[in-house]
Amino acid sequence: MKNLGFAAVGCAALLLIVALEATPNASKVPTCTCAAFRLDDIQDYFLNNVQVEVMSVFERRGLSLTVGVIGNHIGSDPMIVDYIKNRTGDPLFEIANHGWNHEDFTELSLEGQSSLVQKTNKKIFDLLAIKPTVFIAPYNTINNDTFAAVQENGMRYISANMTYDPPPYDIISSNQSLYRFPETVLIGDLSADDTHWITFSHQEVFEGIRESLDQHGFAVVTMHPQDFAARDMLNYQNMVDHNYIKELEMLLDKIQEQGIKVVTISEINRHVTQKQDIFFLQAPQPRKED
Ligand SMILES: [Zn+2]
Repeated sequence: MKNLGFAAVGCAALLLIVALEATPNASKVPTCTCAAFRLDDIQDYFLNNVQVEVMSVFERRGLSLTVGVIGNHIGSDPMIVDYIKNRTGDPLFEIANHGWNHEDFTELSLEGQSSLVQKTNKKIFDLLAIKPTVFIAPYNTINNDTFAAVQENGMRYISANMTYDPPPYDIISSNQSLYRFPETVLIGDLSADDTHWITFSHQEVFEGIRESLDQHGFAVVTMHPQDFAARDMLNYQNMVDHNYIKELEMLLDKIQEQGIKVVTISEINRHVTQKQDIFFLQAPQPRKED
């Protein structure tokens, strides 16, 4: 029995060593161990069969999704509007502001930017009775005035890309007035010679997510309706290509198998934990003047 006891202790010690060696990258880097999916360019009469199918993939699986709505292009297509209205209020479905006419905001003054953010928020409020808190920059372009314009309109999250909004990203400090969660991974992209649209494999996208989690502690995966549309070169049909939907489903399976949570953009900061300094995560005490 003595030997057996020793063997068990020895075994436990060995397991501990193995566990420590298996996580050489365990560090103090905060992470949400999560990925937010961003579906841009939600609008009337544009590949609407494809838009609805992509949103439905997440709905069927009970997974979160953030959709970027173009304010001046929403409201008259029953297929899109009915779907969005039906999902409004569902915590797994987040509506984000994606510009008024999909403008390049960096070409506008602060006042111009703020006015367009406000117009889209008002349109979304009139249609759905919700106030967006997330701004997804059209073309991913932003400048300092965009940060101000978004905050002036009471929004707390901005998602551009890492070129216009370079790292580092503070994901751990609580109660920030503006959280920056740019796109860090793409589902598809224009080919280098600009002749056709490429949808990446689920393995490639998964690697991108893993790398983003390592480097930034979160991942934002951008999708466009055309990533999943049947097409010839750059001519898209309003029809789903089921191979691309299958790749998305395999990606979502893999993410979940690996214990990565799927969240909306505005939830990323709520899932952040600091691997070693766990005590640092206590909820902030309400200030007296609040
Ligand atoms: Zn867009």
